[in-house]
Amino acid sequence: MATWNDIEEGRECPSQGCPGTLELAYPDDGGCSCHIAPPCGHCTSSFLRCTECDWTSEDDLPVAEPETELDRFRRVFKDRGVMF
Ligand SMILES: [Zn+2]
Ligand SMILES: [Zn+2]
Repeated sequence: MATWNDIEEGRECPSQGCPGTLELAYPDDGGCSCHIAPPCGHCTSSFLRCTECDWTSEDDLPVAEPETELDRFRRVFKDRGVMF
């Protein structure tokens, strides 16, 4: 299961089944102004983007919330054809 610790440049995309890798991307805000005041907002707001899908590190991780005890019971009983 992917965690934010796995989100690094060059890592596999955390989207399930996606073969992409993560690459560093910068916001499309007109570009770098480090020549005026380094590091500029453009460079400090870099994020990671998948090369294959549209996932970026500004999105939430595509990982399910941890199951609560109740959800687990519901799932187990649903699998057995018992509905609540
Ligand atoms: Zn810059
Ligand atoms: Zn992807």
